[in-house]
Amino acid sequence: MKGRKLLMIPGPIEFEPEVLRSMSAVTTSHVAPNFIESFGNALDLVKKVWLAPTGQPFVVAGSGTLAMDMAVANLIDAGDNALVISTGYFGKRFKDILERYKANVTILEAPIGEIPSLEDIENALKSKSYKLLTITHVDTSTGVLVNPKPIAELAKKYDVLSVLDGVCSVAGEEIHQDEWEMDIVLTASQKAVGVPPGLALLVASQKAMVTWKNRKTLVPNYYADWNNWLPIMNAYQDRRPSYFGTPPVNLIMALETSLKMIDDEGINNRVNKHKELATAFRSSISALGLRILPKNNSNAANTLTAIYYPSDIEAGLFLKSISSLDVIVAGGLLPEIKAEYFRVGHMGAVSSSDIIATLSAIEYALKKGGHKFESGIGLKTFQDAINSK
Ligand code: PMP
Repeated sequence: MKGRKLLMIPGPIEFEPEVLRSMSAVTTSHVAPNFIESFGNALDLVKKVWLAPTGQPFVVAGSGTLAMDMAVANLIDAGDNALVISTGYFGKRFKDILERYKANVTILEAPIGEIPSLEDIENALKSKSYKLLTITHVDTSTGVLVNPKPIAELAKKYDVLSVLDGVCSVAGEEIHQDEWEMDIVLTASQKAVGVPPGLALLVASQKAMVTWKNRKTLVPNYYADWNNWLPIMNAYQDRRPSYFGTPPVNLIMALETSLKMIDDEGINNRVNKHKELATAFRSSISALGLRILPKNNSNAANTLTAIYYPSDIEAGLFLKSISSLDVIVAGGLLPEIKAEYFRVGHMGAVSSSDIIATLSAIEYALKKGGHKFESGIGLKTFQDAINSK
């Protein structure tokens, strides 16, 4: 990769060369037979990767925030109650979006690195009647992983729609949308789905579709309205031409390519690979004497790791030293502690050699900054963990 930097941020990520080749294919008409087939295949594959054979997929030009906006715009009427289970920056974004659509929002938060307890969630659900709840599967600002399954069960028990922000988890963490009866699972293309930025992806359960069909008021957002997009998705799924807004042709072709690769690998294998690499990476970080944001490893994400700078290190110099070795990691995002930590993305096409290169750059930067540790211990820990598999 001469002249290229290794992109180890939590999205956009490193993309497979085959996916990038699809981006550079000749752009056809959005109603050309080859494109209709590609879009139809991509929608079929979305349902497979989400493990949602009964779900209704939507793939629309936009970023992950549009997918969040679309879920809320279509499901919320002004005055509905909504419960946000927040583990960081992106939980608060859901609160902002819900409030923009005039929902009454209750936000449940926990100290940084922790998760609101199931007991607190159930107490909130008992306290009033909610239309929907949101879960951030992996909050990219903290690297906290929430287990959505028991929360989805509670949502079902109290007849509340469950919405999963899977922007930093879909195709990297375990999700069984149909089996867990999650009503919305949404993401963006640039993360573990493995396609350059520009696509909002969402799968709605049949229950969510009925809630939308029965709404009494117009969806107060023209572009996000499922009335505009459902006929388009249906048409491509049936391999018919149609038009509402011009689809990003090359991104959709790249999506088909990436989802095919994910499906060939097997979604379970892919999730396990993420777990293996992330577990080994966390062991190395701990061997270097560094601490992660999540309070324990059981709620640490497998798609990225958020790591506190050691107290003896100057953050700016540390990040500069890493990038001098052509490895790019991300700084902090959570406003309260933004300057205290950095983040390493390890999802999608990431390989153990990418992580070795990253650890090597981290060790170099730590040494340069004067942090005391046994030279090579991070690399050795990672290699031992990977080789013991
Ligand atoms: N939710 C989560 C968990 C995210 O990580 C992100 C992006 N980092 C978003 C939502 C918003 O996605 P986008 O930047 O594509 O709008």
